[in-house]
Amino acid sequence: MSAEKPKNTSESVLLHPLDTAAAPEPELLCIFGTGDLGRSLGQRLLQSGYRVVYGSRRPTSCGPLPQGTQVMSHAAAAQSASVVFVCVHRENYEFLETLAPQLRGKVLVDVSNNLKKNLYPEANAEYLQRLIPGAQVVKAFNTLSAWALQNGPSDANRQVFLCGNSAEANQAVAKTATKLGFTVLDRGSLSAARELEDFPLQLFPEWRLPLRVAVGLIAALFFYVLIRDVIYAKVELGKDISFRIMVSLANKVFPIVSLIMLSLCYLPGVIAAFLQLYRGTKYKRFPDWLDRWMLCRKQLGLVALGLAFLHVLYTLIIPIRYYVKFRIAASTVLQMKENQTKEFNTVWAWQGDSFYSTGILGFGMFLLLGITSLPSVTNALSWREFNFIQSKLGYLTVFLCTFHTYLYGWNKFLRPSSYKWNTPPAFMLSLVLPTVVMVLKLLLLLPCVDRRLTRIRQGWERTDPKDDSRKSLLA
Ligand code: NAP
Repeated sequence: MSAEKPKNTSESVLLHPLDTAAAPEPELLCIFGTGDLGRSLGQRLLQSGYRVVYGSRRPTSCGPLPQGTQVMSHAAAAQSASVVFVCVHRENYEFLETLAPQLRGKVLVDVSNNLKKNLYPEANAEYLQRLIPGAQVVKAFNTLSAWALQNGPSDANRQVFLCGNSAEANQAVAKTATKLGFTVLDRGSLSAARELEDFPLQLFPEWRLPLRVAVGLIAALFFYVLIRDVIYAKVELGKDISFRIMVSLANKVFPIVSLIMLSLCYLPGVIAAFLQLYRGTKYKRFPDWLDRWMLCRKQLGLVALGLAFLHVLYTLIIPIRYYVKFRIAASTVLQMKENQTKEFNTVWAWQGDSFYSTGILGFGMFLLLGITSLPSVTNALSWREFNFIQSKLGYLTVFLCTFHTYLYGWNKFLRPSSYKWNTPPAFMLSLVLPTVVMVLKLLLLLPCVDRRLTRIRQGWERTDPKDDSRKSLLA
C-alpha cells in the first residue's frame, strides 16, 4: 500500500504545484471520476489536509476541479496513490478491468449507489472486487451526498458506513473518514455492501406503518363524520351543510386520530408489561408484531403531534369563520327581537374553560414529548430524565388529552339526539383506546402488581410448574 510520487507526465495537468507544500508531505489520495461526487470529495479531502490526484478519461478537458488538485489519466493516477476512490457509476466499471495491473494491492473505495434495489445480482462493491481481485475493495461514503460532503459534517449526516474484507484497508479508509470529520460505523465484511447500497434507497422505512395507520384512520373517520353530519343533515333535515367539510369535519377528524395514535404509543408498553406478568419472566421474546409496534412508537407519536398541531390551527381560526360570525350575530339579533337576555351559566363557563385549559396543557405536554424525542435533545438527557418525560409525562399527556375530550362530550353522552342513525359521535370512538390504556396502566400501578413487575424486570423469574413437573419426572 505504498504511494509513489505522481510524475508530471505529458498526459497530466497540474492545477497547482504539489511540491510547494511543507515537509512532511501530506498523504496523496486518488479519485477516479471528475463528476459531482468526485469534485465534492476532492474539495473536502483538500480541506482536511490531503493532496488529491484525479484519474479521468479526459484529463485535459474535464471541467473545473478544486484548486490544488492534479488530474491525469486513470493509469497514471492509480499508480500515484495507495487509496483510490472510484467515483464512477457502476455501469461504467468495465474500464477498470484494463487497469488491474496498476490497481494491484491498492485500496479501492466503492462509493456507488444504484437507482433501484436488487438491480444487479451482486453488490456493486463485490462486482468491483471481482473485476480487480488484486485490489482490496472497501465500500464506504455511499450514504453521503455530494452536497453533504461540500457542506461539512456539521450541516449534514455525520456517519460513514463502511465494510470490506481487509481489516488493514478498512482501517485506512476509516482513518480518512475520521480525518474528514465523520463518525465511522464498520459493518464488517464486503458481504454487507448490498445492505449499505440499499440505505440511500430507503424511503422513510420507520414511518411507513405510522403513516399507513394515520391515513387509514383519517379516511375511515372522515367518511364516518361525513355520513353522520353532512349526509344526515341533508337526508333527515333537508339542510345543505356541505361547507362544513373543509373546517368543521377536518377539525373533528384530526384531533380524534391524534388521540387514538397517542394512545397507540402507550398501548404496546402496557401489553408488554401484562405479557411479562403472565409469563413470569422478561427473558422470553415478545411476538414480532409487538416488537415492530414498539419500535415505531416515536413515529406514531410524532404523526399524532402533527395532527394535534393541525387541530390547534383549525381551532384558532374558528372566530374568523363566516359561519361562526353569522351564528353569533343571528343569536344576538334573536335575543334583541325577543327582548330577552340569556343568563350567564356558570357551569357552562367552568366546562368551557376546563375544556380549553386541559386542551392547552395536553398540547403543551405533547410538544414537550415531541421535542425530547429529537436525537439531539435525547442525547443530552440521562436515561432517567428521558424515561421520566416519555413515560410519566407521556401518560399525563394521554390523561389530559382524554379528559379534554370527555369535557367536550360533557352532556352529549346521555343526550339521545347525539346518536344520529343510532351511531355514537366520532369523539366517543376516540375515547375507547386512551381509556383502555389508562385503566390498564392504573392496574399496573397497583402496589402488588407493580412490585411483581419490577422484580421481573430486575431479572426474577417465576419457574414454570410444567418445567418443575418435568424436572421431577426426570429425577
Ligand atoms: P457523475 O456526476 O455522473 O460523474 C461520474 C464520473 O464518472 C464522470 O464525471 C466521469 O468522469 C466518469 N465517467 C463517466 N462515464 C464513464 C465511463 N464510461 N468510463 C469511465 N468513467 C466514466 O456522477 P456522480 O454523481 O459523481 O456519482 C459518481 C458515483 O458516486 C456513482 O456511483 C454514484 O452512485 C455515487 N454517489 C453519488 C452521490 C452524489 O451525491 N452525487 C452520492 C453518493 C454516491 P471523467 O469524465 O473525469 O472520467
